[in-house]
Amino acid sequence: MSARIIDGRAVAAKILDKVGRETAQFTQEHGRRPCLATVLVGDDPASHTYVQMKRNRCAEAGMESRYVELPREITTAELVSEITTAELVSEITTLSEDPTVDGILLQHPVPAHIDERAAFEAIAPGKDVDGVTMHSFAAMAFNENGFHSCTPGGILRLLDAYDVSLAGKDVVVVGRSPILGKPVGMLLLARDATVTYCHSRTSNLADHVRNADIVIAAVGHPELIRGEWIKEGAVVVDAGYNPGNVGDVEYSSAAGPARLITPVPGGVGPMTIAVLLEQTLAAAKATVSR
Ligand code: NAP
Repeated sequence: MSARIIDGRAVAAKILDKVGRETAQFTQEHGRRPCLATVLVGDDPASHTYVQMKRNRCAEAGMESRYVELPREITTAELVSEITTAELVSEITTLSEDPTVDGILLQHPVPAHIDERAAFEAIAPGKDVDGVTMHSFAAMAFNENGFHSCTPGGILRLLDAYDVSLAGKDVVVVGRSPILGKPVGMLLLARDATVTYCHSRTSNLADHVRNADIVIAAVGHPELIRGEWIKEGAVVVDAGYNPGNVGDVEYSSAAGPARLITPVPGGVGPMTIAVLLEQTLAAAKATVSR
């Protein structure tokens, strides 16, 4: 193995340390803590874990977290009360209008019967600290001020932390989801990279990857990207997270030709929460300066 490992835990810790110090200062100056509302719908165990992790990080940073779990009551084993899209939109609208809430995170994915896009769009743009609304998406696409989707924003921060130059570089983004693949490509394009998107209908994935100076894996398919496809000296960022702590890249063989590589876990994962908290603090600061 010759690649240098991109230490996402260390980069995230630096960001969180700064967020913690500035949160203490904010609290002292304004007499209240920045507040992130986390909304969880349904009973997916992984989503419960992710929300709990986010709430723990909030507490460590000195932030308030407001937890909204829906539905609040499950009546009997047979009759599970399901929340409707309209009820969820109403809950999120209430948080959007609540002056004591600075940021709102709706844990993704929501159950299949919910219109996720409608729920996301109920988040006020100024509180969209997870960067999931069309407003934030447009801001990223137009390279305007706004919140970044957290994982894409975290990936850019990692590349910057390791001085990876982006202008003129051939970047392949594998995956095109609205919260990860598409926005990370837009952020890279805004930094003058030449971006190619690959997805499930791409016919020659290996050839695209072989040509890339930077590979961003955002699929959710264990070790889909083979080490033998990685160009000598490429930078490999693996956002994938699959059962058993396995990424989307075949790590052991990719680490040979790569110059820099993110591990799974400990690469992209920690950055997502760090950016979430950083953006929550930014939202709180924007609220008090209005
Ligand atoms: P997603 O919504 O399921 O999107 C997956 C994308 O991969 C789609 O665009 C899909 O193409 C593409 N794809 C599927 N099979 C492919 C193949 N064989 N070749 C090329 N592309 C293929 O997933 P997501 O939410 O973006 O998440 C992707 C991964 O990132 C998951 O492992 C997830 O756990 C992880 N993730 C990590 C973090 C973090 O904090 N580290 C945050 C979010 C997500 P189509 O569009 O054609 O279907």
